[in-house]
Amino acid sequence: VTLSLEGDADVRRVHAADASGLVLLPDYVARPGTTAETAEMLRMAAARGMTVTPAGMQTSTTGASVTDTGVLLSLRGMQRILDLDPVRRCVRVEAGANLGDVRRAAASEGLLLAPDPTSSDECSVGGAVACNASGPRTLRYGPTRAHVRGLTVVLASGEIVTLTRHALEKNAAGYAFAHDPVDWFVGSEGTLGVLTEVELALVPLPEHVIGLEIPFASEPAAMEFVVHARRSPCVAPRCIEYFDGRAAAIAWDAAAAGEYGARAPVLYVEEETTSDQSRRSEVLDAWLALAEARGALVADARVFEGEMALAEARRARHRVPAIMNERAAAVRAAGGRKVSTDWAVPYERLGAVLANARGLADAAGVEPAVTYGHVGNGHPHQNFIARDADEVAVIERVVEATLRDVIAAGGTVSAEHGIGKLKRRWLPWQATVLQLTAMRGMKRALDPMALLAPGNIFAPGEP
Ligand SMILES: Cc1cc2nc3c(=O)[nH]c(=O)nc-3n(C[C@H](O)[C@H](O)[C@H](O)COP(=O)(O)OP(=O)(O)OC[C@H]3O[C@@H](n4cnc5c(N)ncnc54)[C@H](O)[C@@H]3O)c2cc1C
Repeated sequence: VTLSLEGDADVRRVHAADASGLVLLPDYVARPGTTAETAEMLRMAAARGMTVTPAGMQTSTTGASVTDTGVLLSLRGMQRILDLDPVRRCVRVEAGANLGDVRRAAASEGLLLAPDPTSSDECSVGGAVACNASGPRTLRYGPTRAHVRGLTVVLASGEIVTLTRHALEKNAAGYAFAHDPVDWFVGSEGTLGVLTEVELALVPLPEHVIGLEIPFASEPAAMEFVVHARRSPCVAPRCIEYFDGRAAAIAWDAAAAGEYGARAPVLYVEEETTSDQSRRSEVLDAWLALAEARGALVADARVFEGEMALAEARRARHRVPAIMNERAAAVRAAGGRKVSTDWAVPYERLGAVLANARGLADAAGVEPAVTYGHVGNGHPHQNFIARDADEVAVIERVVEATLRDVIAAGGTVSAEHGIGKLKRRWLPWQATVLQLTAMRGMKRALDPMALLAPGNIFAPGEP
């Protein structure tokens, strides 16, 4: 093996933490520079029966990118953009490439890389694919999965496979789940193979984007508006994001102190349009008419147009997770932490499920969660700050009771951050025995010695 295993304590420590708060020290770190080196490493690991956990930029919120056993395989050294083809509208990159860098490269050719997790500038393309990441624009463009055209994957045996999504519009040959192996690896959280190259589809950059922030008198009013906006033939949002009163204060008070006094909850919507002035006015008027008809506080609505204004809105939204992480860091010494959710339900059900979640937190006497996120897709984030270990336990019980309700409403325990190590116990709440059996069968077929990413999705050593 030309690629060495690094056992140096400092190197291992640098790779021992992700954004989940879990700290797991790997036995070794390996940093391949090519697909061939990755394959060599996996062959060597298989021969020795060593486990291998792939990692990108380690922004996982579920402990999926850390391990305390075997090799932590970091893809950070594989960051090249290999091919950007404006004619075929696609980009091929090494898996460790920074998602934000790839988006900027595409934009320089007039093209948009649609997947837009909040962590875009800090995460890798491989990590986004392995988690099937999503973001505000998922409402219009779908999650990362929808944009993956091809993958180079190193299997647990060390075999290199190149997969291209087929262009068939019809296919009746065999089981549907087996039709497109690209899909097996999207969202597999490192458990089925190591991605070394990714080909992503690009779409034309919109000519013009209008952003609109609309305050509401109450959370139920805002949630009702979401349902109307989704069903209205008059508007075509590319995102519908929510900020409850607390989240709105975090987002905007640093930039525009006290603008709404006691903050009202707000929805932030964006729609793509042309640069034609009359078309832009039509889009804006349609949103304001819908908002007015649904009882929004339209007089306080704010419009964002142009690169600078839209970037300001983006920065304000990013401030919410950043400040919540700072608040979490401040309570860590006392045994506290942030408890955050990424559950989702069909969007029509969100109002009722959110009201129930609030009720459960109130009944348990915990500080209400700062709630924000992608409500257009029925997907809020609830961020609780637990000040000590006792509060962590109380809040986790509240979250679990909420998840029972989420599942009863046809929802999911994880809409974008994945199961990782921290949400494993909830997967059987959602997946049926039949679905779990199929997943285990897939894992056994691709990784018979259970060497890849132990502890992610399934318990270590399983299935
Ligand atoms: C502040 C913040 C905001 C976030 N916002 C969002 C958001 O809006 N939407 C969202 O979906 N997520 C979000 N996340 C979660 C996370 O950032 C994303 O899922 C991200 O795409 C992970 O990329 P990464 O390179 O950091 O992967 P890592 O954290 O390194 O790894 C994540 C998982 O992918 C696997 N993996 C990584 N690279 C490979 C590879 N090459 N081959 C096989 N498996 C691999 C790992 O084993 C692990 O299971 C956020 C996280 C933070 C800290």
